Amino acid sequence: MNYDVAVLIGRFQPFHAGHCSLIASALDRADRLLLLLGSHRCAPDTRNPWSSEERERMIRAALPADWQRRLEVIPIRDHLYSDNLWLAEVQQKVLAATDEEDRVLLVGHRKDRSSYYLDLFPQWDFQDVPLNSDVHSTAIRQAYFSGADDSQWASHVPEAVRAFLTDYRETGRYRWLRQEADYIAGYRQLWSVAPYPPTFVTTDAVVVQSGHVLVVRRRVRPGQGLIALPGGYLNQQEMVVEGMLRELREETGLKVPKPVLEGSIADRHVFDAPGRSQRGRVITHAFLIQLKGGVLPSVRGGDDAEKAFWMPLADIYAHEDSFFEDHVQIIQHFISRI
Ligand code: NAD
Repeated sequence: MNYDVAVLIGRFQPFHAGHCSLIASALDRADRLLLLLGSHRCAPDTRNPWSSEERERMIRAALPADWQRRLEVIPIRDHLYSDNLWLAEVQQKVLAATDEEDRVLLVGHRKDRSSYYLDLFPQWDFQDVPLNSDVHSTAIRQAYFSGADDSQWASHVPEAVRAFLTDYRETGRYRWLRQEADYIAGYRQLWSVAPYPPTFVTTDAVVVQSGHVLVVRRRVRPGQGLIALPGGYLNQQEMVVEGMLRELREETGLKVPKPVLEGSIADRHVFDAPGRSQRGRVITHAFLIQLKGGVLPSVRGGDDAEKAFWMPLADIYAHEDSFFEDHVQIIQHFISRI
């Protein structure tokens, strides 16, 4: 054993046999393992279906008691638009859990382009663990959420994870995710006949007044029931600002005159993380509209929004895992600048 601490970063959605072999390699070479559980409290969808608590439960249940004692699970949030903020959080959490003289080993498997983050830790030694059979979380989730026969996924996960996933199928959350998966599959199928993969353009409005942000509850899939910014697809004949103001009015009924809204645009930014939407490549133009203080204007849900309401900025963090796609990160981007 030549390291004090091993670090393993992953989403483990769900924890499978390949992940198990990473843990075995890590604990073979280090006394302790810090398992950094990524995408903590991010938007719920079929890519990130299970909460950090559920994932920790699955992982611990699958490991022998001796390994569990040497394991510390540390949730880490994504910072979709800043690797530096994400790296700072990883560094901070590892520093807090280690002593200055500890020898640290990063363990991982360079799977594909998405594994680029494994090269961002020059301060630690790195062990590249080979692929353990052809087990992939994406394939497991696809089979599981399409309602496929157990034989298509169950043999790839430890017994305890299989039991968790079997019970989970009885929950309302599973049914919701299953419907989301069907919707996304149908949507992608519709566009599969296009000669090139389409790139969609949407707009979003971040309307802020007196420490509150205007949000809606989605009436439609994807993300039915989740909290979102008012926004939607751009029409063929309109400018981006026009589209944003139209969607804002349709979804929230905000009765502030158009010239006031236009004059209150304080910032705009393009949010283009390639994986930000499961619908495909969706690039959104978001606008910050900063209204003057006073009584919050009345709003009501309409069109794709079941409900519109003003949310205190502090509540965003309490509800961040109920937000749609990257909308919390869009709000954060703007409010950190006001
Ligand atoms: P994952 O659960 O897919 O994989 C975890 C580890 O297991 C990886 O090293 C992977 O290569 C390995 N692995 C997977 N299948 C294997 C197999 N069959 N055999 C052996 N090894 C196997 O997790 P991930 O998606 O790679 O996790 C990265 C986390 O870091 C995510 O939460 C991501 O959002 C986060 N991240 C965030 C930012 C940011 O916010 N700016 C940047 C980079 C990464």
